[in-house]
Amino acid sequence: MQELTHFINGEHVKGTSGRFADVYNPSTGEIQAKVPLATVAEMDAAIAAAAEAQPAWAATNPQRRARVMMKFAALIEEHMDELSELVSREHGKTLPDGRGDVQRGLEVIEVCMGAPNMLKGEYMNDGGPGIDLYAMRQPLGVVAGITPFNFPAMIPLWKMGPALASGNAMILKPSERCPSTSLRLAELLKESGLPDGVLQVVNGDKEAVDTILDNETIQAVGFVGSTPIAQYIYGRACTNGKRAQCFGGAKNHMIIMPDADMDKAADALVGAGFGAAGERCMAISVAVPVGQKTADALIERLVPRIEKLKVGPYTAGADVDYGPVITAQAKDRINGLVNSGVEQGANLVVDGRDFSLQGYEDGFFVGPSLFDNVTPDMDIYQEEIFGPVLSTVRTETYEEALDLIMKNQYGNGTSIYTADGDTARDFANKVNVGMVGINFPIPVPLSYFTFGGWKKSAFGDLNQYGPDAFRFYTKTKTVTARWFSGIKDGGEFHFKQMD
Ligand code: NAD
Repeated sequence: MQELTHFINGEHVKGTSGRFADVYNPSTGEIQAKVPLATVAEMDAAIAAAAEAQPAWAATNPQRRARVMMKFAALIEEHMDELSELVSREHGKTLPDGRGDVQRGLEVIEVCMGAPNMLKGEYMNDGGPGIDLYAMRQPLGVVAGITPFNFPAMIPLWKMGPALASGNAMILKPSERCPSTSLRLAELLKESGLPDGVLQVVNGDKEAVDTILDNETIQAVGFVGSTPIAQYIYGRACTNGKRAQCFGGAKNHMIIMPDADMDKAADALVGAGFGAAGERCMAISVAVPVGQKTADALIERLVPRIEKLKVGPYTAGADVDYGPVITAQAKDRINGLVNSGVEQGANLVVDGRDFSLQGYEDGFFVGPSLFDNVTPDMDIYQEEIFGPVLSTVRTETYEEALDLIMKNQYGNGTSIYTADGDTARDFANKVNVGMVGINFPIPVPLSYFTFGGWKKSAFGDLNQYGPDAFRFYTKTKTVTARWFSGIKDGGEFHFKQMD
């Protein structure tokens, strides 16, 4: 059994707590590694060492720090296959999807190559008589990233890129279910020239997280995970005077207007609803057709597409559409929610509950399910299922569909399929959701924009990556400066006569 480590001060370090979490192979159900869970003392020591390393890194000029990012990006490209495989091995997603996970993280590192431009600050010449003002962006010190299982490469990269390029040191606490990619990325960062101690990967569970939240050296916490934990971490970090941005769960709706291209909408829904087994915070989990005819036409197209989906292990090659879910508990929870949908009166059009794969009977596979006639009071509508389950809520009008989304507690992503620019424009203007797709199912913004939801999908003010990330990971210091006349007036500009 492989025993994983922490990565502290540039080295792999064994855990000393004697506590471990199991890392599964979700396709077979076997435990493939154990990951150490840090104690308070281990975490505090890693934070103290990061604090020692940080001032020299902050004093390294921004362009040199950006060069580390350039080398890091090149190494990620070079190791793309290896990293994708590492993601898929612990998460279970298909290899192309694992590659996408690494790629969307890499794109943020590419933006971080231009970090000096984000860190220039502001300047006002002659804001008053002989008075100049300038605002500097300075790193915070030691910051922390706490990340979820579902994007083992992308989200750690979203955290470490802007934080490190801004001159901070970072404690990264990856998900204990998929920790290996973060450990490998830390090795690559070292190879890229990052000084030891500037990125510490410390594995752990609630004990490690609470230590981060209570440690006075930690200046900021960037969290991504489920909403209850996001809200908890946001509250405790803020109470302790830290800057915090905590991104949570989602329930993403797609409106399908009567004038939409139904085949394209159905294709998009199948990809966005079932890709990565629905374990994406930007997955579409609710289809909202407008009008009964639209709903019938959509269901008619969805059913054969969903029944054709191929579920299997990532090792089975490009033929597989999606893999297992992350744990046996996740599988039971998803199947339990599907049961609740049936009990509460929704129409289960495609039933994935009894799915089993020959040779992988102990794997955490869940077949795809499609519900029709879901109503907002049902648990399958209220809860984030985070599995391969698509619910259909039928509506009569566009206004009713919009209202449904507006009233949902989450506001991460949403989408509309329509041929009418006016409707699409109205939707984008009015909807209270952070990321909107127009004839586009998963509107994750490119890395030079920013990523963040509204309502209970995010706690804190600034988004992830893009310009917001550099604002989050730096503090503004504003200087008002006046230089009294003296040297200039007193200067002599002619050769002095020698007496
Ligand atoms: P999770 O909340 O269980 O875990 C996230 C992190 O929090 C992990 O590092 C975990 O160790 C830690 N954690 C878990 N329980 C804790 C506790 N009680 N106290 C302190 N720390 C704790 O989330 P997950 O299951 O790993 O990830 C899936 C969730 O993340 C979904 O809800 C998904 O929507 C969400 N997500 C959101 C975004 C976004 O940007 N909004 C992106 C990806 C995933």
